[in-house]
Amino acid sequence: MVRLAVIGLFVVGVFFLIQYVFRGSEDEASAGEPEASEMVECQNCATYVPKQEALEWEWEEKGAGKYFCNEDCAKAFAEKKSAD
Ligand SMILES: [Zn+2]
Repeated sequence: MVRLAVIGLFVVGVFFLIQYVFRGSEDEASAGEPEASEMVECQNCATYVPKQEALEWEWEEKGAGKYFCNEDCAKAFAEKKSAD
């Protein structure tokens, strides 16, 4: 049982290490970007998602960015819009 706990701790440790390394490289890529805590609303399903994870869709006719939780929502919204 103790061995299982040690293995569990090891797995969690490796997971956090990978996450740390991944975030480190991501921070370098997006240097100068605002903090990730900003939430934006998906225009299709009204789910709030972190701005960094949201899909930004530029609408030519309005020129303003809209946010979606994923590409499917963006497509669904575009289809709804074109159906009007
Ligand atoms: Zn959505």
